[in-house]
Amino acid sequence: MTSLPDYNFQPATIKFLEQSPKKLFINNEWVEGNSGETFATRNPASGAVLAEVTLANAADVDAAVAAAQAAFPGWSQTIAAERGERLFKLAALIDEHADVLAELETLDNGKPIRVARRGDLPYVTKHLRYQAGWADKIEGSTVPVTFPDQLVYTRREPLGVVGAIIPWNFPLLMAIWKLGPALAAGNTLILKPAEQTPLTALYLADLVREAGFPPGVVNILTGPGLPTGAAMAAHPHIAKIAFTGSTSTGARIMEAAAKSNLKRVSLELGGKSPNVVFADADLSAAIRGAQWAVFSTAGQECVAGTRLFVERKVFNEVLEGLTANVEKMVVDHGFAEKVHVGPLISAEQLERVAGYITEGQQAGAEIVTGGQGLSAELKGGYFLKPTVFSYQDDSLRLVQEEIFGPVAAVTAFDDEDELIARSNATQYGLAAGVWTRDVGKAHRYAHAVQAGTVWINGYGMIDPAAPFGGYKMSGFGREMGKEAIDLYTQVKTVWVSTQ
Ligand code: ADP
Repeated sequence: MTSLPDYNFQPATIKFLEQSPKKLFINNEWVEGNSGETFATRNPASGAVLAEVTLANAADVDAAVAAAQAAFPGWSQTIAAERGERLFKLAALIDEHADVLAELETLDNGKPIRVARRGDLPYVTKHLRYQAGWADKIEGSTVPVTFPDQLVYTRREPLGVVGAIIPWNFPLLMAIWKLGPALAAGNTLILKPAEQTPLTALYLADLVREAGFPPGVVNILTGPGLPTGAAMAAHPHIAKIAFTGSTSTGARIMEAAAKSNLKRVSLELGGKSPNVVFADADLSAAIRGAQWAVFSTAGQECVAGTRLFVERKVFNEVLEGLTANVEKMVVDHGFAEKVHVGPLISAEQLERVAGYITEGQQAGAEIVTGGQGLSAELKGGYFLKPTVFSYQDDSLRLVQEEIFGPVAAVTAFDDEDELIARSNATQYGLAAGVWTRDVGKAHRYAHAVQAGTVWINGYGMIDPAAPFGGYKMSGFGREMGKEAIDLYTQVKTVWVSTQ
């Protein structure tokens, strides 16, 4: 087995890693798959291989779809409260195994173990319980039509087999965001974790079985976008793809959906979110907020507040405060005692982000702190220093494109009209933040900014009860809240003659 970092791992974590290669989970069984191929998942803090994982090909997607189709009639007709009970049981099992899951998440994704343990895992089960609670509250309505002798009512029915394709930044959480509402509503599921971070989804499989879900209700396939994800997106018997990831992949999935069976698609995509500091804000809170809005996940978060707009009068003060805070952030591997910023997910991602930094400098943006250059002991992993740019030109690639790395771009603005125009001048519209003590100004901005979520005097809060999703090219469909159930159901209208 691979060399692990110096840490007191749970025996179950070690045992799980030793079972290699990892197989596919279809019909509540571990199966070999048809491709005969595996791929490696790596620890981004060192580049070391953690496990070999089976690569699912199109035939494996067919097998998983067949299992999920066979399970659908039974599961969709299961008493709704019973579906909820299975999900509550799964949440309890995840709680029981939380330490192992957190360790696997940090090994596979790189995030600080404290964040995995106190952030990701509790939120995973909160979300699951919230959605489990919806299972027996999915109601239709009676409709007052113009015909005198007709009773008309609606039913919210599940779609069928749902394919969930998820990214690597919050691996287990993203899996549960999809799994919770999909199963609560009576669909069956094929989950494909990102190829960079398959471990927690695979660990989840045994908990799914233990929670008593019938065979075929949850199937887990591992593999990259090509061929695995693409085969799901193009499959004629998958009724819906729930996707979180990049905007370009989202567009490809929509295209495949259009060409195959017009499957439903919900897309939670990229962002380039503005975070605004007005001069009348509580500046120390705003500076801290701006810092965590980008760097808490090494910028690998779709809502990262990567464009920081600061009112000109306080520009220098805010930039200096932010820089001082950022320079105190410790970059290290996720199991280190004191770590704020973990590694990037992969060598490719490191190279991509470094490319943005170099190009940004060449194009005239000024590096205030960060850039290249790290201590020698971090050289094996995919680390990058938290980097802050100061800029004025909104057309820079650094300002327009989602970088998904620890890079913030800070600029000055003079008035509200300019601010709103510049805030909205990207293709994205996922989230925004605004810091001010002026209530009117805060709400004016919140209403004018094109974003699915706006935080006033805060940044980054997400909750199972609060709808979440994008405007513009950040996607469509709202996850969480009751809206999430709408994503996984369709409305049937029934006419009954009462003559
Ligand atoms: P990132 O750039 O963050 O890795 P992607 O959008 O490429 O984001 O990946 C998110 C998820 O989409 C992953 O599970 C990945 O395997 C999957 N994916 C990538 N390309 C495709 C594709 N063409 N069709 C379906 N899924 C894909």
